[in-house]
Amino acid sequence: MSANKEVIIIGGGVIGLACANYLIDKGARVRIIERDKVGQGASHGNCGLLCFSDVIPLCSPGAVSNELVKALKRQSALSIKPSFDMGLWAWLFKFASKCNRNHMKAGARSKYEIVKYSVQLFDTLFAGEPMPCDFEKKGLLIVFKNKENFENYGETNRFLEAYNMGAKRIDRDQLQELEPALSDGMAGCLPDPPLRALRTENGGYSLEKRLPHGRDHGIFRVQ
Ligand SMILES: Cc1cc2nc3c(=O)[nH]c(=O)nc-3n(C[C@H](O)[C@H](O)[C@H](O)COP(=O)(O)OP(=O)(O)OC[C@H]3O[C@@H](n4cnc5c(N)ncnc54)[C@H](O)[C@@H]3O)c2cc1C
Repeated sequence: MSANKEVIIIGGGVIGLACANYLIDKGARVRIIERDKVGQGASHGNCGLLCFSDVIPLCSPGAVSNELVKALKRQSALSIKPSFDMGLWAWLFKFASKCNRNHMKAGARSKYEIVKYSVQLFDTLFAGEPMPCDFEKKGLLIVFKNKENFENYGETNRFLEAYNMGAKRIDRDQLQELEPALSDGMAGCLPDPPLRALRTENGGYSLEKRLPHGRDHGIFRVQ
């Protein structure tokens, strides 16, 4: 990109801020137009987790039936308003037809390449000038209330092992030692080493602070 390009970015979520960061590095003059507060959209909703082991795509075997059961129990994160929108039903039907092992493997291979690249980008970003954010490489505890779900996770884990993202099994007693705040009845957990956490509440949006301010650069609020 040639220097001195003017770029306007609509939305100050993690994507808008990251784009601004790299564009400014390339010499562009960047303005972010945000209608609300920076970092309060979906980027706040995911609790600041950078989940680098998330290579399994949504279209995996059982995705539709599992979500349907959860939706009926009102436990699903997905909510679709019932309607006769043919476009929506065609899309859902196509999605369901892709929920098989071959598509899952192909999707995982592509996601793995993106994940690898993201890890490099984050490491470069945090190796640069210090940013006041709680960036931790502690890993994630996946905790299961139910022993059956814990055992079932074994299959997912075997799939992740092929990408060196397999988790280590931790028994109940060890779990209590590791995280005393958890209640006694937990079936066990598996730590997931590649996960890192960036707390958005506590300056995770330090990217915002990297943006120069002035008439040509900066974040502009619109109502
Ligand atoms: C509960 C939850 C869990 C998630 N878990 C994960 C996960 O584990 N791994 C993962 O990779 N992703 C996860 N995600 C998804 C991830 O958080 C989003 O993909 C990402 O935050 C999107 O960033 P964004 O900047 O595109 O959007 P946002 O953070 O939503 O930012 C968009 C911004 O644009 C502003 N805006 C919108 N329209 C206008 C307009 N017309 N004018 C001005 N401003 C406007 C909004 O106010 C907002 O601030 C999760 C999301 C949620 C909600």
